[in-house]
Amino acid sequence: MTLSSWIIGLLGAAVIAGLAYWKRSLSASGFAAAVIAGTVLYAVGSLAWFGTLIAFFVSSSLLSKCKQKAKSAAESTYEKTGRRDAGQVFANGGIAVILCLLNALFPHFLWWAAFVGVLATVNADTWATEIGGLSSSEPRSILTLKKVPTGTSGGISLAGTLATMAGGLFIGLCAWLFSLGSGSAALHVSFGWLLWTGLVAGTIGSLTDSVIGAKWQWMRRCVVCGKDVEAATHCSTKTSYLRGEKWMNNDAVNMIASLAGAVIAVLATASL
Ligand SMILES: [Zn+2]
Repeated sequence: MTLSSWIIGLLGAAVIAGLAYWKRSLSASGFAAAVIAGTVLYAVGSLAWFGTLIAFFVSSSLLSKCKQKAKSAAESTYEKTGRRDAGQVFANGGIAVILCLLNALFPHFLWWAAFVGVLATVNADTWATEIGGLSSSEPRSILTLKKVPTGTSGGISLAGTLATMAGGLFIGLCAWLFSLGSGSAALHVSFGWLLWTGLVAGTIGSLTDSVIGAKWQWMRRCVVCGKDVEAATHCSTKTSYLRGEKWMNNDAVNMIASLAGAVIAVLATASL
């Protein structure tokens, strides 16, 4: 944790978050949150921690951008659209940063396992949403197996499930690549272990996200078009209450699923 690592981390994070802000993937608060998260991961962690977060961040931002037009109809059912703000950045990366700090205080490779599990979960979930949302077949509810409109919380499809697994594997692969570059002997860096952890934690963590989303996420219904939405208004009209708790918004669901991903990654490590 040298001064130069803080400077390199700050510059690297500022350049990448700056590009994302310029490309309208981040709001101003999202930019600030991403710079803080990236700097801490590089300076307190290493290239492995920093690069794995960036791999999630860049791949999911690019997917969102590429698909934005195609899914503009589905997007309107979400509370937040387009730019990621600080709340979303911390919901996705906050636990990852805390795990990195815990590893610095109480060094143990299980913190790294949990970290990979968190990012595998959020990445798998983002890939599932972005790619699954493009599927022409209607998703089914993970709870009732009934068909639900594309973009509905808790909706799963074959394309989305394959994207989930690919998203988890991608994080495992990137964690391995960046850990080679960071040369940290303290990290568990076997190729097979990282792919396995990314796949298992990403898939089960993302399924957890779907179940919590379908059961407890705050959801309202548009009285005009009948869509299930998070927003207080839709079609210029006040929406009515459908289910869930007010505090259980998409960010809260993501955070709980991230914790599940961390636990699963630790269990997956113990299973080997
Ligand atoms: Zn509507």
